[in-house]
Amino acid sequence: LKSDRAISQLIEHSMQLGVSAAKSIPAHKVSVEARFADYCGQQPCPGFGKSINCPPHAMHPDQFRGLLAQHHTALVFKFDVPTKILQSDERLELFKKLHLCASELELKALDLGFNKAHGLAAGSCWQVFCADKGDCTALTDPSKCRYPHKARPSVSSQGVDVYKLCEELDWSINRITKETDPDSVPMGLLAALVLLG
Ligand code: SF4
Repeated sequence: LKSDRAISQLIEHSMQLGVSAAKSIPAHKVSVEARFADYCGQQPCPGFGKSINCPPHAMHPDQFRGLLAQHHTALVFKFDVPTKILQSDERLELFKKLHLCASELELKALDLGFNKAHGLAAGSCWQVFCADKGDCTALTDPSKCRYPHKARPSVSSQGVDVYKLCEELDWSINRITKETDPDSVPMGLLAALVLLG
């Protein structure tokens, strides 16, 4: 099938971008629950409310479910990351990588004929791209994002259940918090995706 070949090309391209693994899954297997987007405000994440790509400004998970239904496949990619890095500010560099990979793969997918390609990253675009520049310029006008070719909404902001997704893909995932002992749980992961349709 033409689209199978194109998906293999996208997986190959993901590996060239340095991801630890990439796999495709039927889009309907991506589970979405509003409570994951609610966590952004409950933790709270420093990016909460700061950009159009994060709650409460980002697309609501209920709306995102509708968008998901217009796609047949999700290309999911991950970076395996030492727990110590996830617990430090160094994780912001990794979040940036996820934004760059999601936007690059979205572009590649569009080139390959997936006209509805839609990339989601992980983490707040404001934190990785704009925190040192001021407020999100897209809050007043969505066409005014400083980095439209790099910044994407995060999987969490759309309510994607990353744990269930990793289970579906047979990727072992540990929940990492500030309290996690890196000696007992040395590795975690960051995952993001591109919807194909
Ligand atoms: S200007 Fe763009 S990259 Fe910066 S915070 Fe807003 S949406 Fe994110």
